[in-house]
This record gives sequence, C-alpha cells and structure tokens, in this order.
Amino acid sequence: MNKRDYYEVLGVNRNATEAEIKKAYRKLAMQYHPDRNPGDKEAEEKFKEAAEAYEVLSDPEKRRRYDQYGHSGLRGGFEGGFTDFDLSDALRTFMQGFGGFSDLFGMGSRERGPQGGSDLQVRLKLSLEEIARGVTKKLRLKKLVTCPACGGSGAEPGYQATRCPVCHGSGEVRQVSNSIFGQFVNVSTCPNCHGEGQVISHPCRTCRGEGRIRKEVVTQVGIPAGVATGNYLTLRGEGNVGPRGGRPGDLIVVIEEEEHPEFERHGDDVLYNLVIGYTQAVLGDEVEVPTLDGRVKLKIPSGTPAGKIFRLKGKGIPHLNRQGVGDQLVRINIFTPAKVSREEQKLLEQLSNFERNHLEEYTKAKGRKGKRGVFHSWS
Ligand SMILES: [Zn+2]
Ligand SMILES: [Zn+2]
Repeated sequence: MNKRDYYEVLGVNRNATEAEIKKAYRKLAMQYHPDRNPGDKEAEEKFKEAAEAYEVLSDPEKRRRYDQYGHSGLRGGFEGGFTDFDLSDALRTFMQGFGGFSDLFGMGSRERGPQGGSDLQVRLKLSLEEIARGVTKKLRLKKLVTCPACGGSGAEPGYQATRCPVCHGSGEVRQVSNSIFGQFVNVSTCPNCHGEGQVISHPCRTCRGEGRIRKEVVTQVGIPAGVATGNYLTLRGEGNVGPRGGRPGDLIVVIEEEEHPEFERHGDDVLYNLVIGYTQAVLGDEVEVPTLDGRVKLKIPSGTPAGKIFRLKGKGIPHLNRQGVGDQLVRINIFTPAKVSREEQKLLEQLSNFERNHLEEYTKAKGRKGKRGVFHSWS
C-alpha cells in the first residue's frame, strides 16, 4: 500500500515546529478518535494514519530520517518498523501524546487542584471459544492506588495539608510584564504547590506525600461475545489514581485473539477443515465435527466432492453490534493414503477400471456443458 506523506497527512508544511505538529495531530485525533466514531472504518484508518505520522514527526531522530530518506528510511533499523501500525499502537501514541481523552478535552491539567491519574493499557488474549461465548476475565495489574495510610491526602496521619503560602490556595501565580504593546498578565501554575493550592509539611511516610502507592490489583472485566483483535474496552476510572486525591485515569483493555488449532475465523464465520476418506465421499456417511460449543453430527451425502463446503447455521460467532450469529463452514478434504496394504492395492486396482469409465464420462460431460458444467457424481 502506498503511504501518504506524513506532512500531508497532518496538513503541516515541512518546516513545521513541534508545537504545530502536535496541534495538527491533536485536531485530527479528536476528529477521528474511535470513541467518537464507533464502527467507522474510514475514521479508524484516518486515526491510525495521523498517529503514525505524529509518531514519526514528533521524534526529531525519526523525523530527520524521514526527511532524508522518506518512508523507506524508517523501515528496518527501527524497533518494530512502521509497516503495521495497528489501532492499539495508534491509541498508545494518542495516550502518550495527551495522557488520555479527558486531557485532550482540556479537563485534566488545566483543572485546579490535584492532577488526574494516567490511563493504563493492557492486552488481553482470548481464545475463540471465549470470544464466541463472551467471558468475564480477571486481570492482574500493577497500578497506582490511593495510599491506605493517609487516605490519599499525602499528609502523615495527624497532620493536614495547609494552604500554599505562595499562591494563597489558588494554584496559580500571576506575573505582570510591561512591553511596548501594553501590559501582559501571565498566569502560570504555582511552582510551590504545582497547582494544588495546598502544601504538605509532614508528608506521609508510606507514600512519601504522593497520596498513592503502586499495588498489584485484580480487576474483573466482562467481554461481550463477538469481539476481535484490535477491539478495545474502556473501563472508566480503573486506571492509575492521580497524586493526592486526583481522579483516576481509565483502563483500556485491547483484545487480542489467540490462534485456534482447528478453526479459522472469517469475520463472524468460522471455517473447519474436515478430512474424510474417499469411500465416505463416494458412499456418504454421518460424521461428528467439532464446533465452538461441542460436537455435532454432519451428514455427508453420497457423491460429495473435495472442496465442498457445508454450512452449520448459527454455529459461528455472535455479531458484536447487531443481532445474530455467524455460521460454521465445514470444508471437505479427501484423505489419500500414502501407503496401502497388498490387499487394498488389489481392490484399488479393480476399482481403477471403473474409475477410468467415470473419468471419461466426466470429461465428455465437461466438454458438452462447457466450463460451467458441474458433474461430480461417481455412481
Ligand atoms: Zn500516604
Ligand atoms: Zn501554590
């Protein structure tokens, strides 16, 4: 696939500053974020394309290589390469760039008081059976949780946070400067309390005044049936808590489907390759085939050709966002023994005389009917 020029993707010129690149990316990411365009493949592609462009152009070394050699300058040599930038990569870029959705909308760092926590992302591997049924999984994760000793305040028990003497609790400091254009008031975050408006004289010894500690926790997550690799769930407020009572970030669970030893997934249908013997194909039979929920009987009619596909209705994977379930397809393969006994050899030689007649008949019929003729009867 031909990749578009990264500058063109972001709509910036080649000597754009880092800030311009970030701004352009932010605009596109907000417009095309999958949370705002559920199920829109085109938006997802745009989101991934923008993230990839930003990933390169925001990194001075990668940008230099790209400027010099174009897309080929980024292949090989770089960790992971850039040939498959998938949705979870794009989301990671997005989160690294902006620390999550809420920050992007300006609700995070601009807020007065404690800073919000960061989002966490985990990959969750699921088997096809789990995907077909839907599943509740326990996730073991290390995350920042509220310090149990100080309850998140960051102050040693028995002490309290006090109003910041520099900003008097506002969290902001104002600097007034005069210039030929007039007076400028520059409002910035208070350097003493980092915008919290409070300072702690005796920090909690358990969390060193952070109000949070790192802990291994187990979280349950319910996965609906029908998900696929690259789908993700956002668990609001299940990410890291912010320092000193800051609201928690989100936990983002990215689905990864494990390869199945027997089934191939095609959308919401699953394909199973069934191997039967030549005599079963000719004479017909009833066989058992595995499905995602147990074994079922399948009737093989007499004269079944290799490559024939049978459809087991509703034995596939439930559709994620609409009613209904996919099917299981059973493709017939005919087993040819590599070695036969002397007795079998004799029987097969006798059979081959009959077979010759069938083949002649078949070739003639094909000639009559043209290429579209279907003729697979052996009896
Ligand atoms: Zn503490
Ligand atoms: Zn302050």
